[in-house]
Amino acid sequence: MYGKIKINGKEFEYTLRKRKGTRRMRLAIYADGAFIVSAPKWYPVYAINKFLEDKAEWIFEKLKHVDFSELKKKMEADSARYESSKKNAKEIISQRVEFWAERYGFAYNRIAIRNQRTCWGSCSRRGNLNFNYKLADLPQELQDYVIIHELCHLKELNHSPRFWNLVEKIMPDHKNLRKKLKRHNLRS
Ligand SMILES: [Zn+2]
Repeated sequence: MYGKIKINGKEFEYTLRKRKGTRRMRLAIYADGAFIVSAPKWYPVYAINKFLEDKAEWIFEKLKHVDFSELKKKMEADSARYESSKKNAKEIISQRVEFWAERYGFAYNRIAIRNQRTCWGSCSRRGNLNFNYKLADLPQELQDYVIIHELCHLKELNHSPRFWNLVEKIMPDHKNLRKKLKRHNLRS
């Protein structure tokens, strides 16, 4: 999840991590510009904003030292990589989606390949499936995990026990695969 904060007239984007085990808010700003806010899972948005406002001066000081030209270069390289690989990624991913959809009777609307920084895949209420182009670079078992996960959202648009039962029926090893997937960082 991403959030935005305005300090001294400038807008900064941060990554919001909501964690079950966390009891208080935490802030980290790295030299590459990564600005990470961790909050307890139950924390409301206004409490997060209030916390960030209180820390605004500190945040501004830290962000002043970030080399944004490096960050910009990184982002440009990333979008060039996306432009050159999305077509191929779409072919690879579509093929796997069709394979699983046909086998288990899932009906989807369309497939889109995106350059998302936060997720491998998503499913909309209209039955559209979105996948990160980087998914095509992962081992096939992980591609399949993400694809099956999103296909199951066509039937259950939530993470209820019913949803996970559905995933489990198709992919008994899904917990293990999910752990493996977490080792692949989308930001790199
Ligand atoms: Zn999901």
